[in-house]
Amino acid sequence: MTIKETDLKYIAHTYGRFPLVIKEGKGSLAFDESGKRYIDLATGIAVNAFGYCDEEWAKSVNKQLTTLQHTSNLYYTEPCAELAKMLCERTGMSKVFFSNSGAEANECAIKAARKYAAQNKGAEYSTIVTLKNSFHGRTLTTLAATGQDTFHNDFLPLTPGFVYAEANNISDLEEKVKNNKTAAIMFELVQGEGGVMPLEKSFVDKIIELSNEYNLVTIVDEVQTGNGRTGSLYAFEQYGIRPDVVSTAKGLGGGLPIGATMLSERLTDIFAPGDHGSTFGGNPVCCAGALSIINRIDDTLLAEVREKSEYIIKELSSSDGVNSVDGMGLMLGINTKRSADDIVKECMDKGVLVIKAKQKVRLLPALNIPWDLLKEAINTLKQVCESED
Ligand SMILES: *Cc1c(COP(=O)(O)O)cnc(C)c1O
Repeated sequence: MTIKETDLKYIAHTYGRFPLVIKEGKGSLAFDESGKRYIDLATGIAVNAFGYCDEEWAKSVNKQLTTLQHTSNLYYTEPCAELAKMLCERTGMSKVFFSNSGAEANECAIKAARKYAAQNKGAEYSTIVTLKNSFHGRTLTTLAATGQDTFHNDFLPLTPGFVYAEANNISDLEEKVKNNKTAAIMFELVQGEGGVMPLEKSFVDKIIELSNEYNLVTIVDEVQTGNGRTGSLYAFEQYGIRPDVVSTAKGLGGGLPIGATMLSERLTDIFAPGDHGSTFGGNPVCCAGALSIINRIDDTLLAEVREKSEYIIKELSSSDGVNSVDGMGLMLGINTKRSADDIVKECMDKGVLVIKAKQKVRLLPALNIPWDLLKEAINTLKQVCESED
């Protein structure tokens, strides 16, 4: 059996995979079984922050792997403590809970918000207002938080206590907050799976205003936008806000599974021993990988991310095949004249990996993608966008 046949026979059919087996990768290049080379502008959905098997990252990970791979949270370990310290120092947050995925990071954020509201306002204040078209994960609670019916069908009932306001609609948000016993507002600053849609600054300011007025917990889901992706370490910095809770995952571990929920001063003591936990959370190998990633997301790298973003936007906006480009930093969604499916497929044939977000072509290249590969890939993408069907 080929790899594809074995996979189809034995893996549950939850994924529609592209017809490509990736055998190995180096930096921003991936190679299939025949040795064909692909420039990767998708990075495993914003996970491989520094591309495939980055040497510095691999060295840190390997060192930890051959020193101590797991202890459980019954003991202290250095990488876990050091990563939490680095995240707090870089963000101004106070405490961190480590898990293994974005959904889990959001579960923790929701638990923190519900407990805060119960303690400070009363247990009936349990509603979390999220946004339509959002994406917060696949567990039953984070699915409930996700404001897209298509993900809910077949899995009802979901966790109760979530209502959805329309993104960038201030009066709808106000109404949803006022008409419910609201604990928190949870949102992505750039809706990723929803089609790479940045929130307007005035709408985000309104979220903060309502949160102050109603003593709400603001939860920013930076699972995709975080860790340098949008041109700042976290996207909330560019909106000039200080959230109460920030969840992140995807790029944090550079390819290893790790989620983090960061709590501000206001929620610093919200959890007591026994309130929450994770057997794998804070795994030393994943934390060593994340330390290496966060350590390298400095001002120089972030300036480069923004410069590459401007280059991509300029190149594509001037293309006849492109209607518009949305997003921030190296998280971009391209509204193309041709169908996004056709573009993804044709780019793959021509050796460039891009993915979709709703009906857009989505780009999530490595933060350190070399200029020559970026230019080559964008040229290919432009040609594909401009070609006739
Ligand atoms: C991917 C994503 C998630 C879910 O992360 P998993 O690691 O797949 O659980 C949650 N929120 C946002 C914004 C995401 O992009």
